[in-house]
Formats: sequence, structure tokens, C-alpha cells
Amino acid sequence: MDKSFNAFKMAQTQFDAIADKLNMNEASRELLRNPMREYHFNIPVKMDDGNSKVFRGFRIQHNDALGPCKGGIRFHPQETVDTVRALSMWMTWKTSVVDIPLGGGKGGVICDPHNLSAREQEQICRGWVRQLHQNVGPLRDIPAPDVMTNGQHMLWMLDEYETLTGAKYPGMITGKPVGMGGSLARTEATGYGVIFTVREALREMKINIENTSASFQGFGNVSQYAIELYTQLGGKVLCVSCWDQKDQKSYAFYKKDGIVLADLLKITDRFGGIDKVKALELGYEVLPGDKWIEVECDILVPSALENQITAETVNKISKKVKLIAEGANGPTTPEADIVLKERNIFMIPDFLCNAGGVTCSYFEQVQCNMNYFWSKDEVLGKLDYKMTTAYHKVSKLAREKKLYMRDAAYMISVDRVVRASVARGWI
Ligand code: NAD
Repeated sequence: MDKSFNAFKMAQTQFDAIADKLNMNEASRELLRNPMREYHFNIPVKMDDGNSKVFRGFRIQHNDALGPCKGGIRFHPQETVDTVRALSMWMTWKTSVVDIPLGGGKGGVICDPHNLSAREQEQICRGWVRQLHQNVGPLRDIPAPDVMTNGQHMLWMLDEYETLTGAKYPGMITGKPVGMGGSLARTEATGYGVIFTVREALREMKINIENTSASFQGFGNVSQYAIELYTQLGGKVLCVSCWDQKDQKSYAFYKKDGIVLADLLKITDRFGGIDKVKALELGYEVLPGDKWIEVECDILVPSALENQITAETVNKISKKVKLIAEGANGPTTPEADIVLKERNIFMIPDFLCNAGGVTCSYFEQVQCNMNYFWSKDEVLGKLDYKMTTAYHKVSKLAREKKLYMRDAAYMISVDRVVRASVARGWI
């Protein structure tokens, strides 16, 4: 990982450019350039070996003008406050661009679940809520899973919250297991949402999805379900990549005739790591991890980490690539954006492309608050409608004003948040 990369600086650079385009006044810039509230705290945990260890936790609430904050909690050994700040800002733009009544927040804990027992992870989850129960909740700030957290973590957090508050608040957190307040289709939502936007973009470009091929970075929740829907619609995935925990580096898995999702899933661990020995046996070419970006295909789907399409890597993108769909948050730097614009590669920007997760989280919250749950088809139908509507609103503005898609998406979402802040009398 590039240690000099600062996601928050990048989020602010993107915001400043839009603020200039919108002719935004100073007060609005001040309000939106930085988070409204930040919580930094220690989580002491008694480890299985009897020793105590202190983990550092965060919750950042960027803006709640449109409604309670919403955003995931990441467990990552390289987590930094600035990454969480950037992600909380992107959540504000994400909830706004898909037009759901929520604001933006994000949380994190510096830890590596690979090296923690289930009991130790439970203690981190409960400790996180003990520090924050007065500042989160269904009407304040609603967390969700993100990198290396899952439904079990959410349920431990909910249980701690309900224990501390003495009542049932299933809408306090989303991404819970189905049957315990979770929504059907939440697991699929982000990946499927990515492909709903890809489908619409290809339609507009008059390209038949059945004639397209793609390369994915990452093979976790987002990629796996995006690949499922993309291949169901007829697309061919030539390459996926993942992090190898043992070797501490990434690998790309390439198959000229197209990867077979079901085969790869059988040899993938719960962190989205593919067993490279077994992949070789299945006939995959195992290449260095950064090769995913060089694959000759129509669509690139970065779905692992931020800062992957950069000034250095952007020129490795093949001439055939027509579309980039950002499954991950912040995978493309502003410098790389300039090159992509010049090359006329169509961009579906992160906070639009991967908004399916938060949209379904919003549906989960609505269902929890009503105490009435919908069928999977109903959830997916509503998700498709929301994503498709948001995509077309952005693409229409981009076409009318001849804007890069990221700029058009920013203009719509930032403008909505500014209007809400003005309407509330904040600025
Ligand atoms: P995940 O933990 O399920 O999977 C991450 C995948 O990326 C794994 O396959 C891992 O091996 C791989 N990876 C990690 N480092 C890598 C590297 N250096 N090179 C190649 N592969 C690498 O995470 P996820 O939920 O799929 O999230 C992926 C991205 O999408 C993140 O940026 C996340 O913030 C974003 N996102 C996720 C959701 C969601 O609902 N899960 C929603 C919106 C955005």
C-alpha cells in the first residue's frame, strides 16, 4: 500500500473542484469540507491468552442534513483516521446521489480479524458500542458492515446496544443476518447494484452486454455478486484478483475463456482470498496482483481498495477498455481521472456505482422500523429502480452539460446536501 496516499486529501480535492463548479459560498465549503463530528476512542480487550490489548476505534459523522448518518465499520490493520474521514464524506455524497433520507458516516477499528478469535472480535464489537451508544442509533447514526466486518459483528453490536438501552432497536444497525432483522438481498445488493449501473451504461453506449468482457480487482462480497449478475446477463469475466494473506501480496487469476464463479468460490476463504495452488490445478493463470488492470477487456471493475487507478497505473489500461465501474470506494485518483477523461473511458463513479449496499441497508432499516419484511424479489426490484433512476439522473446531467460522470454525480449530490443545510437554516 502507498503510505503517502491520503484518501481524505483526495476526497477534499474532489469536493473543492465541485464547490468551484457550483460557485459555492465560503460557509457551505467550510461545512462540507470537514466532518461535523468525530469520535476517537480506545477499546480495551482481554485476549484469549489472558493479556490485555487496546484497539483504536473511530466513528466519523460527516453530515446529517438529509437524515441520520449512515455508513459501514471497517476492521483493518492499516486503518487511519483520514481514511475513515474520506469514507464518511463519500457516504454523504452516496446517500444523497441515490436520494435516500440519510447522511454520511463511517467507522473503523485498527485490527486484523485474521489474527483474532471470534471471542476477541465480539469483545471489539461490544467495546465499540459501549464507547458510542449515546452517539449512534436508529435516529442518529446507523452503522453497517464494510471491509472485514459481517452480519455476526453487526448482531453483537446490536445486542450490546439493546442491552445498554434496555429496548429493542433493530433499526440501530444494518447488514444483520436474515432472520435477525436483516434484509433479504443485502448480501447481493452492492455487487448487483454495480451491475445495474453497468447494464444501463452499456445500454446507453449501445453495446450488448453479451459481447463484453471484464476484469475485476478483488474477490470479496462486492466482486462475487457483481460477477454473479454480470455473468447471468451474459458477460464474460477474464480476470479476478485478491490479497494472499500468507504471501502478503496480491495475485490475479486469469482465464482466457472466462472464469467460472462457482469453481472459484469453492477455493475462496471467507476474506475473499483464493487458494492459488488449487486455482492452478483448475487451469487458471496465476499472475502478479497488479495485472488485473492490464487485461484486454471492455470493462474494469476495481472492487478491492482505494488508490488503485493512479497516475502510475492508468497508462497500463488496455485500449479496449470502454467502461470503468468503481465497486470499491476511491479506487481512482484525481490525476488518473484526468487521463481517463482524455481517453474518453466512461466512468461510473464509486458513490453512484456501489450505492446498492447503502440503498439496501436503508430498505433494511425501513423494514426493521415497520417490523415487516419484504420478499427478496421485492427488495431487488426496489433496488433496481433506485439505482437505475439515480444512474439516469446523473448520466442525463453529464450529457446535457458535457460533464465527466464523476463531476455530474458530485454536482447532484453536493447540491442536495447544500440545499438541505440551507433549508435547515445552518448556512
Ligand atoms: P471484502 O473484504 O469482502 O473483499 C475485499 C476483496 O479485495 C478480497 O477478495 C481481498 O482479497 C481483495 N483485496 C484486498 N487487498 C487487495 C489487493 N491489494 N489487491 C487485490 N485484491 C485485494 O470487501 P468488499 O465488501 O467486497 O468491499 C470491497 C470494496 O468495496 C471496499 O472499497 C469497500 O469499501 C467497498 N464497498 C463495499 C460495500 C459492501 O456492501 N460490501 C459497499 C460499498 C462499497
